[in-house]
Amino acid sequence: MEESFLYPFAEPPADGCLQEVGAGMFWLRMPLPFPPGHINLYCLAEPDGGWTMFDCGVHDDVTKELWSRVERDGLGGRPITRLLVSHWHADHAGLAGWLSLRHGAPVLMAASEFLQCRGLDRPPDCASVAAAEAFHRRQGLGGDGLAGLLDYMANGRRRHGPMPAEFDGLVHGQDVVLGGRHWRIFLCGGHALDLVAAWCPSANVFFTSDQVLPLISAHVGVMVMDPHADALGRFLRSLELMRREIPADVLVLPSHNMPFVGLHQRIDQLVAHHDRRCQALLAACVIEPRSCFDMLPLLFRRQLEAGFLALALRETQAHVNHLLSLGRLAPVEGQDGTVRYRAV
Ligand SMILES: [Zn+2]
Repeated sequence: MEESFLYPFAEPPADGCLQEVGAGMFWLRMPLPFPPGHINLYCLAEPDGGWTMFDCGVHDDVTKELWSRVERDGLGGRPITRLLVSHWHADHAGLAGWLSLRHGAPVLMAASEFLQCRGLDRPPDCASVAAAEAFHRRQGLGGDGLAGLLDYMANGRRRHGPMPAEFDGLVHGQDVVLGGRHWRIFLCGGHALDLVAAWCPSANVFFTSDQVLPLISAHVGVMVMDPHADALGRFLRSLELMRREIPADVLVLPSHNMPFVGLHQRIDQLVAHHDRRCQALLAACVIEPRSCFDMLPLLFRRQLEAGFLALALRETQAHVNHLLSLGRLAPVEGQDGTVRYRAV
């Protein structure tokens, strides 16, 4: 299906180099030490000579080194005057504090995303670890799998630097002038808490961050601190809104893969993808009640190590919660503390 998308740029820019994607808009790539191996950042030239950045890259030495080169060559020594951070994940927000301090630039974020980043400035407390343990036990995970996952949570590599103490909050529907143009802010649930996407009608450009990617279906999961959330419902509603309000021929600037034209088709594919996953879970729960852990192989075929196991379990829970909210599944509390689900 993806062949029907239009990719206006044949090649991505080399790491740390800028490529123009529209008048005064540039695409910059930074490497990632985890899949998919790169992130796309975008720079807007400001009429006053500064730059607005969309996202930052991870907090590691390789990315910091590349930033020094970008500042000198790509940005021509002109300062970053605003830093829009789409969401709290390390590839987007990891260097936000470092860049903001370096340039004296305010950070623009949704409040929930900013607070989540501030929370990562400290290691997880006992209550959060206990909540994660209880959450995964209810999902049917125990033994070495659970121990490995909790160990990863306590000791996993941190790729976020410290955040500034203040920020400029973005709200849904807000009109913000960036790079001399009006952009409309969309706050989108499901992948993160309130991921910021930004649409510029006059340039017909839409920065989607991870909410819509051309080749990858981004993680949609519940947070352990909000275990009953209908994260998939929020994700799907954000896609519906985009499809209704944004023209089909918009140039999509995603955070991974390549910029493309084909927003509506890609949204239709993502909706169908999640619907297929829900149908697979429902079909399994008709036969007998199943826990989230039982259902993992229906959604994820590869071997899951600790970090990815946590994501996969949270994604399975998001699909289950969506089916619960639609009244298609009902929970069955087991004597062992595991919650299983039967099709209604
Ligand atoms: Zn993300």
